[in-house]
Amino acid sequence: MSSNKTMKWIEVGKILAEDPNEKVQCPECEQNNLEVQDIRNESNPNELERSMHCPVCNARNVLRLKRPI
Ligand SMILES: [Zn+2]
Repeated sequence: MSSNKTMKWIEVGKILAEDPNEKVQCPECEQNNLEVQDIRNESNPNELERSMHCPVCNARNVLRLKRPI
């Protein structure tokens, strides 16, 4: 992964941390929007994992978010 793509993942992570319904292009292939899925961490209910997945190139990244109690 090039540092340029790393920067793009950071950018899309910021956007999707604010609004998971935002349409954001995949930083890897730029062919498709990322699909977002929230996964609860059962052992730590204050934390939420927001998975970002591209169905075209199968790129995947996970954001760790603090949930308001
Ligand atoms: Zn992709």
